[in-house]
Amino acid sequence: MIDEENVVDPSHPRYKSLMIRKKVADAGVKGMLADSAMIAHGRGEAYDYLLGEQTTPSAMEATREAVARLVRAERPILSLNGNAIALAGADFLTIASQLGCPVEINIFYRTPERMGALLGHLKLLNSKLGLDVEILGGIPDARIPGLEGPRGACQSNGIFEADVILVPLEDGDRCEALIAMGKEVLVIDLNPLSRSSRTGTVGIVDEVTRVTKNMIQMIPEKPSVTEWNNNNALQSALNHIVESLSNKFE
Ligand code: ATP
Ligand code: MG
Repeated sequence: MIDEENVVDPSHPRYKSLMIRKKVADAGVKGMLADSAMIAHGRGEAYDYLLGEQTTPSAMEATREAVARLVRAERPILSLNGNAIALAGADFLTIASQLGCPVEINIFYRTPERMGALLGHLKLLNSKLGLDVEILGGIPDARIPGLEGPRGACQSNGIFEADVILVPLEDGDRCEALIAMGKEVLVIDLNPLSRSSRTGTVGIVDEVTRVTKNMIQMIPEKPSVTEWNNNNALQSALNHIVESLSNKFE
């Protein structure tokens, strides 16, 4: 359990999951997240519970495919929202440094305070890790066509011109708009039924902190791109849930 002082008991059987939740809670206190962040996280938790809180074989294959496409890309980029930064900011900087690409902060509810908190957090992690990853998003000068208001803001030397884009926990509208721009969109989302999972080029149905760890291992292996069938991959994720639940109480 997480008590009033936000301390997690290590003997709790679902300690790992609670520690991940705590990261979201702590980032909220630091002003890095919108009020809806914990709701989005909770939706992910529910799917992770059904998946057995583990990387399934089909999620591992999707992760490898995404890595292959990032390695092949001419202008890859990692698009980071508040939850992705709160949960795996350091790992995303490591991945960007392995790929030699920038990250761009792209948040749904954009305020100067939240942008400042997220930029500051990533800059701190960059220097703690001894990395020099370019962090974009602070000065948007381009728009993702089809998205109204601040949600469509992006940087011309970042997301706008990228050919392959990794979007953890992305909103379905933005994922669709990026696909419409002709980009390869690699989605990390525990919900195999979300619009992001369904419209992305590759949908990784797995928890973001597990995915980043796997990616860091796989990038040096430079895997090859395959003829990816995303619908088959999403169906495998759903089958995994259904099979693990059938005859549960017999
Ligand atoms: P969509 O807009 O794609 O139809 P949505 O509106 O249900 O989906 P959003 O709130 O836009 O979802 O985005 C949050 C998504 O991120 C959810 O689908 C949720 O399952 C997923 N998610 C939340 N936490 C995690 C996590 N830790 N790891 C991976 N995915 C997560
Ligand atoms: Mg949505």
